[in-house]
This record gives sequence, structure tokens and C-alpha cells, in this order.
Amino acid sequence: MIKVPEEPCQCPDCLRFYREHDRLIREFPTLRKQQEINWAALQSFRTLCGRVLEELQKNINSNSTNKSEENSHIGSIEKKEKSITQVISDLENVNAHLYSIEALMERVFDVKVSEEVEDIFREVAGELAPDPLNIDRLRLNRLLHQTPDLPEK
Ligand SMILES: [Zn+2]
Repeated sequence: MIKVPEEPCQCPDCLRFYREHDRLIREFPTLRKQQEINWAALQSFRTLCGRVLEELQKNINSNSTNKSEENSHIGSIEKKEKSITQVISDLENVNAHLYSIEALMERVFDVKVSEEVEDIFREVAGELAPDPLNIDRLRLNRLLHQTPDLPEK
């Protein structure tokens, strides 16, 4: 008998989040690895946002509005286009917050633990995020994916 755990939400977005969440635990199962991956994620986020911000500011300075190449996300094209200055302001806020987070993270990353404690991290990680190829998990995933919203192919 399959024991289906209580899932708060089964929409595609949440399912994707659960998968990512578990993957990050599985692939980075120690304090050290979590520190490294989160630092890298934060820095890549900052780098990308910062560069886009530069591009937008360059564009607004040269007043060229005809060259707006953006990736079109299927089915998620926003109806209301914000003004470019609003976007710049939003991204500046994002960058400011990321900068604050970085300051906090540095403290988190000062912490080091012994290999014994890292072993406990690994053990708990294995319980929290078991191998997705585990047969029970595959069955559960199939159940979760049988929603009318998802296109069957
Ligand atoms: Zn959801």
C-alpha cells in the first residue's frame, strides 16, 4: 500500500519547487556544500542582475527603444509593460536587498563544523531527500503528475 504524504499544494510550480528543494539537499548534503552553493547562487544572482541593470541604464541613456530583445516565455507574456525606469528602480531594489543578504550570509558562512557533524548532515539529507529513482518516489511522482492541467504527451 502506498502511503501518500500530505502535500500542501500540488500545482506545477510547487511540484517544481519540491523537486528543486530536494535536489539541492541531495546534491549538497553538508553544511560546507550548502554554504558554497548558496554563496554561488547569491553571487550569480547579483552578477546577472547587475549586468542587466547596466544594460538597461545604457539603453535609457542612448534612448534606443527599438532594440528590445528578450526571451519570450511561452504562455507567460506580461500584459502590462512597466516603464523602463520602473524596471530599473525595481532591479536596483533587488540588488540592494541581495547586497544585504550577502552581508548576513557572510556570518552564516563563518561557521565550520567537524566531520562528525557533517556526517549527521549527510544522514539527515539522505532521509529528507532520498534518491528520486527510488521506486516508491517514482510512483508518488506519477500520482502527483496526473492532473488535468498537465498536457499528456
Ligand atoms: Zn502550488
